[in-house]
Amino acid sequence: EEYLNRLRLTEPTIKSFLHVSENVMKEAQELDLKIERNEELGVLAGVLIGVKDNICTVDMPSTGGSRILQDYRPAYDATAVKKLKQSGALLVGKTNLDEFGMGSTTEASGFQVTANPWDVSRVPGGSSGGSAAAVSARQCVAALGSDTGGSVRQPASFCGVVGMKPTYGRVSRFGLMAYASSLDVIGCFGSSVADTAILLEAISGHDIFDATSSKREVPSFASQFISTELMESKPLKGLRVGIISETLGDGVDKPVVSTIKAAASHLEELGCTVTEVSLPSFSLGLPAYYILASSESSSNLSRYDGVRYGNQAAAEELNSLYSDSRSNGFGPEVKMRILMGTYALSAGYYDAYYKRAQQVRTLVQKSFKDALSENDILISPAAPSAAYKIDEKKNDPLAMYAGDIMTVNVNLAGLPALVLPCGFVEGGPAGLPIGLQMIGGQFDEGKLLRVGHIFE
Ligand code: GLN
Repeated sequence: EEYLNRLRLTEPTIKSFLHVSENVMKEAQELDLKIERNEELGVLAGVLIGVKDNICTVDMPSTGGSRILQDYRPAYDATAVKKLKQSGALLVGKTNLDEFGMGSTTEASGFQVTANPWDVSRVPGGSSGGSAAAVSARQCVAALGSDTGGSVRQPASFCGVVGMKPTYGRVSRFGLMAYASSLDVIGCFGSSVADTAILLEAISGHDIFDATSSKREVPSFASQFISTELMESKPLKGLRVGIISETLGDGVDKPVVSTIKAAASHLEELGCTVTEVSLPSFSLGLPAYYILASSESSSNLSRYDGVRYGNQAAAEELNSLYSDSRSNGFGPEVKMRILMGTYALSAGYYDAYYKRAQQVRTLVQKSFKDALSENDILISPAAPSAAYKIDEKKNDPLAMYAGDIMTVNVNLAGLPALVLPCGFVEGGPAGLPIGLQMIGGQFDEGKLLRVGHIFE
């Protein structure tokens, strides 16, 4: 009730939800009955979770933030949602996002603009801005998001919460609306690393409905935290941390750099050795990402034809039915991505753009592999700046894309990364949070979460 009251009070200003469930109290009462009957409860019993609206839920609308799916209700739950329900979680509602996950501010939602709880004149980041803002404003305990190029980590940084992007394949994508299938992952938000670890464990694992989900065993992330470690003076003794030198140079706000350097000193105090490491292909990641993500999205979004799902335009013949449904349903950012992707994939340009970007992807993977052979984890800022003003970059998409420089490489390599608050810079009524990004090797979520828990 406390969470729901706060949600009611703050939602008119924050606008993190596109839909709020009406069943939460009823489901909570059902849990009470289970307790009375001494029935076993799941690990998330009674915990209020928000779900990004590009993740399918049978009992709530699922719009992907797009007008084209305005009244769409899926026939099934995403596997991650099914697992949450099996763990006893109470789904509080569906959170706002940039349409189909395309954007870094949540301003590209087809429905509303979400505000950053730290300063409501600023963006919460994106595309999972609704989930990050909801956890930050304590409208729910934790939330699911999706991360194709940073959409969990950058809003976590902007809103001062913990965000986890798992290894590609750790969490089933079944029921996640596809943006760029080779990069998409479902990720978690929490207000502590421990909460995030419990949530990640609940949704991870192999799924017969997603052939790219991994059969690897899911460790019990949170129970690997050793409470006595927190009392030791050097609990991270021997851990080799590489700070990515390309992430501290030009284009990164000075106060962000000094906050990250202070976080690196804190890691040293905890016993880590911190050294600078260079990822030579780092700056190539951004253009390669935008070509690959747009190309995949232009193909994935062809399913929204006005026939199979969602809104259908009134039209006299088939071709205008397709084009009118798509013209009316998609917003400007999505249309731009489809145009860019179609261009990059077209005959005559394919070799120069798509193929070249795939080659860069291989380079990025190799440079991470090299850096992680000499370091246990890598660190960087989660974004080159703190949260900026609503409308500030609205008419300058390239400036907005440039803000993804810290996160996209991790998706190109399919690696896990954890973002957690590590300090504040000046701005807004109470300062603006800065997130530290920790990157690990494939399936190293357990290590990242343990280090994050000790750091926090
Ligand atoms: N901002 C990036 C984009 O627009 C990342 C989005 C995401 O991770 N879904 O593509």
